[in-house]
Parts: sequence; C-alpha cells; structure tokens
Amino acid sequence: MTPTDSEVDVLIVGAGPAGLMLATWLSQLQISTRIIDKRSTKIMAGQADGFQCRTLEILDSFGIDRVWKESNRMLEVCFWNPDENGVIRRTGRTPDTPKGLSRFTESVLHQGRMERFFLDHLKETGDRIRVERPVIPSLLQVDESEINNPSAYPVAIKIQHLTDEQATPNQGNNIPNGLFRSNLTADDTDDLIRQSSGKEGTEETIRAKYLVGCDGAHSWTRKQLGFKMEGEHTEIIWGALDVVPITDFPDIRSRCLIHSASEGSLMVIPREKRIVRLYIQLKEVGAGGGAVDRSKVTPEQILKAAQKIIAPYKLDYEKCDWFTAYQIAQRVSDGFEKFDRVFLAGDAVHTHSPKAGQGQNVSIQDAYNLGWKIGLVARGQASPEILKTYATERQQIARELIAFDQKFSKLFSGRPAKDVSDETGVSLEEFRNVFHQGAVFAAGLSVDYGPNILVVKEDEGKEGTVRCRPDLANKLNIGMRLPSHKIVNQSDSLSIELQRLLPSDGRFRLIVFAGDIRKPEIYTRFEKLGEYLSSKDSVVSLYTSKDSPRDSVIEVLTVHSAKRTTIELQSLPEAFHPFDKSMGWDYWKVYADDESYHEGHGQVYENFGIDKDEGCIVVVRPDGYVAATVAVDDVQSLEAYFGRFMIKL
Ligand code: FAD
Repeated sequence: MTPTDSEVDVLIVGAGPAGLMLATWLSQLQISTRIIDKRSTKIMAGQADGFQCRTLEILDSFGIDRVWKESNRMLEVCFWNPDENGVIRRTGRTPDTPKGLSRFTESVLHQGRMERFFLDHLKETGDRIRVERPVIPSLLQVDESEINNPSAYPVAIKIQHLTDEQATPNQGNNIPNGLFRSNLTADDTDDLIRQSSGKEGTEETIRAKYLVGCDGAHSWTRKQLGFKMEGEHTEIIWGALDVVPITDFPDIRSRCLIHSASEGSLMVIPREKRIVRLYIQLKEVGAGGGAVDRSKVTPEQILKAAQKIIAPYKLDYEKCDWFTAYQIAQRVSDGFEKFDRVFLAGDAVHTHSPKAGQGQNVSIQDAYNLGWKIGLVARGQASPEILKTYATERQQIARELIAFDQKFSKLFSGRPAKDVSDETGVSLEEFRNVFHQGAVFAAGLSVDYGPNILVVKEDEGKEGTVRCRPDLANKLNIGMRLPSHKIVNQSDSLSIELQRLLPSDGRFRLIVFAGDIRKPEIYTRFEKLGEYLSSKDSVVSLYTSKDSPRDSVIEVLTVHSAKRTTIELQSLPEAFHPFDKSMGWDYWKVYADDESYHEGHGQVYENFGIDKDEGCIVVVRPDGYVAATVAVDDVQSLEAYFGRFMIKL
C-alpha cells in the first residue's frame, strides 16, 4: 500500500437518494463507510418529487418524518379526456392512494429536500459519514483471491478530487434545470477523469470490503463491472416544468391525467409551496433516432406545449422553479453485483419514465434492502450468504418496475380513443384500469420477496428445517412488508402503530402473537416459550454477546389478545419484558389487541388472520419484511431459521 492508502468497510459512489439511504443504514449500524460524489453540491430543486407509501414507512422507521411534514399530500386524481367535440372534460375522480393501504398517502416534495434530510440524519447519528465532494473514482480492481476472506479488503478504488469548475456543469440557462442529470445528455464522467490532472487535489487508493455503485443512470461502477442495460429507448420526448401556475383550470391542485384530442398528454402534480409540476409530451422536439440537442428545450417551449393540451383553459406563470427534458429509456442492468463484494443500486441498475413517480422510491428501496445485509455481515453477525439475496430480491422488482412503466407510459403517451370502435386509441376505461391495478405496485406495497435463505414461505418438511405455518396468520403475506395496525401498550394503555415498534436498527424481531393468555393452556404454552427464550441455548442467547443488551440482535415483542386490564405485566415471564440493572423493567415489549381509550381497536389478529387460541410467532427481518410464521411452541423452527445464516458468538 502507498502512504495515501486507507481502508474502509464500505465505499459508496454517488450521493443521490440511493447512496444516501445506504449511508443512513450504515451510519445507524455504525459501519465504517465513505461516500463520494462528483457534484460539488446536492440537488437544489426539481428532479424526483413523488414519495410513495412504502418509502414514507421506511423513512419513518429511521425517525425521518420531515418529508411527511413538509410535503404536499396528493389525495385525488382527476382524469380529463376529450369529449365528442374534442374539448377536454373531467371524466372521473379517484383517490390517489387506495384506502387502507398504508398509514401514509402519496406525498410530493422535491428531491433536494430528501437529500437534505438524509444529510442531516447522518449528522445526527454520530456525524461519522460525510459526503466527500467533488470526487470521482477512476480505477476499480477486485482481488479475487481474497473475496471469500471475511476480514479482507479486496476492492481497491482509486479516487480523484476535482475542482469546483469541473464538478459544476454549465446548465446553459438562468433557471435551475435538470438537463445535465437528464438521460438526454451524454455522461461526463470520462471527460472528468481525462481533465483531472491530479494537480487540483489528491489521488487516493481506498481499499474496501464492499463497494456500492449508487452513481445513477450513467453509472461508472456498472461500466467497470461490464454490465449492460437491457431494454428500450423510446423516441418520445417529455418536458417537466415546476411553476407557480396562473390558470383557470379547475383541478390544478389535484393530480390530473389529461389527454387532449390531438396535442398529446399532460400530467399535473400539485407540489409544496404553491408549485405545480407539469409533465408534458413535447411533440415538436423530435428525437430523430439519436441524442437530442438539449439547448433546444426551453421552459417557454414546454409551457407552449402545455397550453395547447390544456386549452380552452388558460395556463401561464411568472415563477419557474426548475425544468428539464427527458427521453424515456426503460432498461434494467443484466447484473446487480459481482463477487458479493461490489453492488449496484438505484438508477445505476434501472431507468424508466418518471411519471409514475417510481425512480427515487425504488432506488431508496434498493439501498434499504442492501444496507442491513452488508451491515450485519460487516459486523460479523451474519454469514455473507445473505448478500446473495440482494440481487435476487431487487432484480425481480426492477423487472416488475419496467413492465409496469411500459404499460403506464404507453397508455399515457397514447392517443385517446375516439369511440369504442377505435382500437388503436387508448380508452378511458383501459387507462383507469391500469391506473387502479398499478396503484398498489406504485405505492411500493406489492413487493413480495420469494423464498430464499431469509424468507421461508412453506413448511420445509424435514427435521431441522423451518416448519413454516402460513395458515397460522392466513391474511399475512410472508415475503411482504408487515402491515401496520394499532395495538395497545400493556403498561401505559397508549395506542400505537405496530410498525412503530420496528425501527430500522438492524434487529430481527419475533412478534409473539400469544393469543388469549387468560386461558390456562394458552398461558402455559406462552410461559414455556418464555423459559426457552431465557435459556442459554435460545436463539436470543446464542447470537447476542453477554455485554450487549439482550434485545440488541433479536427483539421479542408480544401482542396478546386478552383484555388488557385482565393482565398484569409483572406476572408475565421476564423474557417478554426483560429487566436491566440500570434501566429497570422494559415496559415497551408487551401489547394487547384491544380497544384503546381514544383511537379505537386495531383488530390486528383479525387483520392478520390469526386465531386467538392458536396464536403464532411472526419472524420479521430488520427491513420490516415478514420472514416466516411458526407455531408458538415451535422453537426448533426458530433455531433452524436463524441457524442458517446467523453467526454464533
Ligand atoms: P441519482 O439521483 O442520479 O444520483 C446519482 C449520484 O451519483 C449523483 O449525485 C451523481 O452526481 C453521482 N455520480 C454519478 N456518477 C458519479 C461518479 N462517476 N463519481 C461520483 N459520483 C457520481 N423518481 C421518483 O421516485 N419520483 C418522482 O416523482 C420522480 N420524478 C422525476 C422527475 C424527473 C424529471 C426526473 C429526471 C427523474 C424523476 N425521478 C422520480 C427519478 C429519480 O430522480 C431517480 O430515479 C433517482 O434520483 C435515482 O436515485 P439514484 O440515487 O439512484 O441516482
């Protein structure tokens, strides 16, 4: 190693939503991490703006609630289509997020705020990880002889520090715009590497255990790995405009999907601070089969196209916050990782149209899937085997995303049908159907991870394997995120969302749905489980070091179905409300599925399809996805589950 060499567990390239989400996880888990970005500053305006339910749940699990507080809640969608005279009319309204899907609804706030919140959170959680800007990687090498050695640093990356001029592209317009980050323009990484003589700063070689490329659609990391983006590049050019609109269009503060008779389509997204985002098909800027000259696209031109679509209503603005233009490319990378040492996440592995508001969300969710796995392996708590699940789980989601986007974009870009016999046109019915079917997917709540080392969907049948019992919680989907319902704290009667008990802190959880523990036979079963959990051979004891809190690796939570006031916490086995010399008893581990004083009854047993006599244990992964359901007395299955990837201390 040269004197400038340094070692780090994880190096992240790219500090967009994916890179910052990953850094947030790794900061939470106290993993040594560096993150570099080629831009001298974060995004200031524009770009992604839609936050889906699942993303809001994830952010909440880190205690980041500022998106929810600052954003504009987008509750209604209005459909506008041409009537028989070709004049646009409102043809329907529907809720934007289907009822009962999540405790959050789709919300809108610009990406720069999200990046700010992540950066603030990194500061608040120890200030160990800071984005190093403007910095680019210029060489990547992996020492294949060391990839199976858990304590090795087999990934070597040379990085270069840039000048501010190199890192701040000329945007060619007075109004902040996203043209330089748009997929219309060529990548500049190669130019930056060539320009960078090394005089302006230092060069450094970093040796890392893991490298994660979160470096966007033109990903340098992906190119080094030799992966290709597979899919289509359409010819349709879209403009996006963030303006404070001056208009007589009645639905400007609702999400609108407007199809004009012959001028193309327009999507209205009401935003924070009186801003409205307009997505507009630009009929007059042809792609002509190649890259588009971005200097041709101006906000005035985008506005003109919008005015034609929205006529006879008037539309104008005084204040334009941001604009961009893009061409839809629906592509997925043919690889998401190499050697389980170098990973890719976010736009680096999938690109598509922004209209369904997915890119930032899916990118954050990629990193959310990966972060805890790298964290547990780097801490020596879990076997590197779990890293393989990243690519299998997320590649499938990326493919589903592209299929969804192809359907959605085609319908949105298509010409509206004149009447029922017009087969090449898009009927309103067809559009609404796709919109409704896609709503759960778009909310990020259809993610269903298939069986793998971390997810057991069925009884594996053999001695020493997991006797998974999906029938014991027959409305709960193993592989999907645990839905939230209100439960009541046994000790202080506070009504709380179940998901609030699952903060993103790297712990697995056993949620013991003990049933009606007033019944002697049910209580006996529960008591026996408590004895097991307290024993030195239980899964809790085996994987938790003696110096760490007992709940620091696998946390046990109980939700019983007895009337809360008939149960005394102190009479329950200690395993369910552990005692600590300096902290006393833990009053935040036992809950009742019962009526609360002020917030009704969450009916969690009913909603999960759990029988109050049978009960069950739901095993939940650190990212809130259901890993397995087993019988309350089946401790062998718990041992079989954790035994396949957790490392004994
Ligand atoms: P990026 O945000 O592209 O971040 C990559 C980062 O890596 C950047 O900071 C970049 O500077 C850095 N980088 C790149 N190369 C290098 C290198 N060689 N060295 C160092 N650093 C590098 N998504 C939604 O979810 N909802 C929406 O409503 C939405 N609307 C959109 C509207 C528009 C107009 C556009 C263009 C996109 C929209 N998206 C939306 C998509 C969303 O912006 C992206 O999917 C998201 O930003 C991807 O996040 P990422 O972190 O993977 O990549």
